[in-house]
Amino acid sequence: MKKPRIYMDHHSTTPMDPAVLQTMLPYFTEEFGNAASRSHAYGWRAEEAVEKARESLAGLIHARPKELVFTSGATESDNLALFGAVANLSERGRHIVTCMTEHPAVLDCCRRLEKSGYEVTYLPVDSTGRLSPEDVRAVLRNDTILISLMAANNEVGTLHSLSEVGKIAKEAGVLFHCDGSQAVGKVPMDVEAMGIDLLAFTAHKIYGPKGVGALYVRKRNPRVRLAPILFGGGHEGGMRSGTLNVPGIVGFGEACEIAGRVMPEESARLSSLRDRLHRRILSELKEVRLNGHPEFRLPHNLNLSFAYVEGESLMMAMEDVAVSSGSACTSATQEPSHVLKAMGVSDAMAHTSLRFGLGRFNTLEEVDYVAGRVVESVKRLREISPLYEMAREQRQGAHAGHLR
Ligand SMILES: *Cc1c(COP(=O)(O)O)cnc(C)c1O
Repeated sequence: MKKPRIYMDHHSTTPMDPAVLQTMLPYFTEEFGNAASRSHAYGWRAEEAVEKARESLAGLIHARPKELVFTSGATESDNLALFGAVANLSERGRHIVTCMTEHPAVLDCCRRLEKSGYEVTYLPVDSTGRLSPEDVRAVLRNDTILISLMAANNEVGTLHSLSEVGKIAKEAGVLFHCDGSQAVGKVPMDVEAMGIDLLAFTAHKIYGPKGVGALYVRKRNPRVRLAPILFGGGHEGGMRSGTLNVPGIVGFGEACEIAGRVMPEESARLSSLRDRLHRRILSELKEVRLNGHPEFRLPHNLNLSFAYVEGESLMMAMEDVAVSSGSACTSATQEPSHVLKAMGVSDAMAHTSLRFGLGRFNTLEEVDYVAGRVVESVKRLREISPLYEMAREQRQGAHAGHLR
């Protein structure tokens, strides 16, 4: 399979920053120690590198290093947060609150928990993908033990009002878990200001390596107790057994350092490129709809529906550009995205949507090239679309009727 020339799918994964790779390399070779080896310098040096990375992660989310647990990625972090938290709270209650547009890493855990006797409320969102914090307050009960809400949606980029939900959770004495995979390193995240008790994130979404993630676990006010889901050597304070992926963790730390440093400038650059792409498409094509919130959205996200054009056909028509269709995370099944559905987008419109995810190494020239490819491909596909033809005739008929 030939590789597309331009990568614009940074919500799926990101290329590693070359600086991240450089920091990792020695830990595959000379510095190969097991961070749990206490008897010699191989182990000590590996442990030192891990603790340095832990500080870098903590700095990026305003946590303390001790509050971070390394995992294999955000999927594992979400699993550990959800199963680990509820296991210790089932005396208090069995009700969980989440949102319909969460990632499968959260939704599938919730479905599993429902099978073992928990009750889950899946809150709806408005047409921009935002959940109303007041809806969260309204469904809380005496037996509610956990709220799980993502920071930023991976398909439409919508940002939730985390601080408000955090405040509601705190007032009610309910734990607040947040899947921060798309937001950490892209927009400012502060577990204190946002009242987050558990925060999942992952290296490969922020120009780090795949297969390494972390879970922030609040240690004070309140001190969150998690039951482990993996058992073994008692690593990571007993919360996550298994030999640490030292090179991966070192890379994750460096990725966080870089993200913290470049965030203001990078998000300004990417949102301006994103807006340029959007403007150009809107100026040259009719019947294009934005999916997501015009303001409360990730700086690098653009999700558009192109009426009468199948997203899959559009992607095929521009094989040199890597993007995702509106059947995004479920594209194997061809089901319309559950996120767009929850936002009230019709199945037909959902099938016409494309997700552009801009990233650190995209250039202005690439953005202009992609805009051109989208415009020409949509025009061509509409020319041969019977649906578009019918709609055009109807419009002209209506217009003629109006003149008469
Ligand atoms: C990518 C992603 C995940 C899964 O992360 P992995 O590290 O690939 O397991 C979970 N939630 C969201 C919102 C994501 O974007």
